[in-house]
Amino acid sequence: MAKKEFQAESKRLLDLFINSIYTNKESFLREVISNSTDAIDKLCYKALTDESVEMSRDDFKISIATDPKARTLTISDNGIGMTKEELETNLGTIAKSGSLSFKRNLMEQEDIEPDIIGQFGVGFYSCFLVGKRVTVVSRAFGSDEAWQWQSEGADGFEITPAERAEVGTDVTIDLRDNTDDENYDRYYQEAILKLLVRKYSDYIRWPIYVGEYVSNSRIPIWQRTKQEMPDEDCYAYYRDVWHDTKDPVSVLRVDAEGSSFSFRAMLFIPSQVPYEFYTPAYKPGLRLYSSGVLIKEDCAELIPDYFRFVRGVVDSPDLSLNISREALQHDRQLKLIASSLEKKIKAELTRLMNREPEKYDTFYKAFGRQLKYGVMANYGINKDKVKDLLMFYSHNQNKNITLEQYVADMKEGQKHIYYVSADSLAVINGLPQTKYVLSHGYDVLCLTESVDEFVISMLGKFGDRELRSVNNGELDIESKEEKEELEQLSEKNEGVLNFVKEALNGKIVEARLSRKLEGSPCCISARGPVSLEMERHFAASLTPLNEEEVGRIRAERVLEFNPDHPVFGKLCVATVNDKELAEKYCKILYGGALVEAGFQLEDPSEFMKLVCELM
Ligand code: ADP
Repeated sequence: MAKKEFQAESKRLLDLFINSIYTNKESFLREVISNSTDAIDKLCYKALTDESVEMSRDDFKISIATDPKARTLTISDNGIGMTKEELETNLGTIAKSGSLSFKRNLMEQEDIEPDIIGQFGVGFYSCFLVGKRVTVVSRAFGSDEAWQWQSEGADGFEITPAERAEVGTDVTIDLRDNTDDENYDRYYQEAILKLLVRKYSDYIRWPIYVGEYVSNSRIPIWQRTKQEMPDEDCYAYYRDVWHDTKDPVSVLRVDAEGSSFSFRAMLFIPSQVPYEFYTPAYKPGLRLYSSGVLIKEDCAELIPDYFRFVRGVVDSPDLSLNISREALQHDRQLKLIASSLEKKIKAELTRLMNREPEKYDTFYKAFGRQLKYGVMANYGINKDKVKDLLMFYSHNQNKNITLEQYVADMKEGQKHIYYVSADSLAVINGLPQTKYVLSHGYDVLCLTESVDEFVISMLGKFGDRELRSVNNGELDIESKEEKEELEQLSEKNEGVLNFVKEALNGKIVEARLSRKLEGSPCCISARGPVSLEMERHFAASLTPLNEEEVGRIRAERVLEFNPDHPVFGKLCVATVNDKELAEKYCKILYGGALVEAGFQLEDPSEFMKLVCELM
């Protein structure tokens, strides 16, 4: 049979991988063993529901045999095996998924740490780190023929008919010739192989024989105590299984012994966003085992969507083993486990927030947005479960704080939680409204992510405190006297205010006086349910909206004037003496206020024309 080439991209990657970047050669053994484990898991699961498998749990094993004369080692398993087609597709395409371009980008960066590559499960190909030739003989479950796949590295592979008495797979590696730097003879020495198995694969639940001896202790990682398995070892397991380059911020061990059901779990809270997190390629969920048998790899039913970043394993002896994967969704036990895990995760995040704020900060930078989506999803049905975990940037404290912390630090007499949302802190700090609220000694939460505004409006309140934008026309800050004084002043200026509203011809719903403007002449604010920020967000959104929708999400604008500012005085005079001029003033002030609030002018050339005329 003619030699087949690896796919072009695979070839390049394989070259790079074998010849330069990867340094930790001995990890090939872990990769091959991990593939064998998966293959056995698959057949073992099948055995639960399919009588034709004729195997029991005790029959499964992985064996490593060596041949010092031939300088080879062979890793065998009696797992599910591969058909001819599977040999070709599974071993012929390196990095099948979209992860390839990611890896390539990664490798183009110069300052990359060599070991990072090992984190991406280049898996089977790591055999070439130590092997000059790799031969795989496999017989798939349900098939009575076996096939051999053979390759000497980047130039391709050959598939030929083979013999194998039982279902399963042998991976034989012809070791490379020794060099000055590397003694490849190590890898056919049983003593060394035993050490490597213990080092990398001790927790694998299937027995791993090196020669005659079982080398691994076979106790799954989550069945061990913290003394036996310190956090660092769990982190290494996490990085390995979920292909992360960084340690998680936390590992959570759960041992639930109940009268109706019991389970153990080991959960990880990652510290960085997986690159495919916001794509369909990301499969949320936990690995579900029943007494050590893998039932489902990504059991999404175990984790609420707002915690979909959590990784880990759950093992329960109480799950009925021959339950179909579809029926899992409705399983009562599973629901109980999920609800218990949800509480544990929330408790752990709260603990991090209070006790290890730096770690929480790392976590929040990575997944804060996911929590915010959690508030928004399904019309806010879960908002109360997530709201305490949210953080926003505090103007006064120069760091992220929770809503609870904001309320705890509120000044006496302060009624609401104030926030302002804009594209940048510079815009926020420049707003007279912000300054006004701050001048009362009140803190302001600065929201700079576009989702923030929606999260806030979904929350509406925190406890009995209203969340109020500084752009809201009613800030509720003034004293009773100040309010009365302003009311009287407004009555006196009713004519001018009405004039402004008419001059702007439908652009605003109201013109009013305000005390919040300090040194500025006027500002834009909003009335009603749609805020200025939301309007801006929708205007910038990529989804084209129809006219009716645009109308619905337009903020009701209010133009507020500072009665003490000379500009207002000039406007008043003009409304009496020169109505045409007064109209121009109104349009210019409205445009200027829009720009200051971070909006675009509705008609920039008209604005420019007006400025020129006035000059
Ligand atoms: P990964 O394990 O990350 O998917 P690998 O390159 O290690 O990537 O393996 C590719 C695929 O080849 C596996 O997903 C599996 O389907 C198949 N495979 C590898 N080794 C075995 C084995 N011993 N038995 C059955 N299938 C295997």
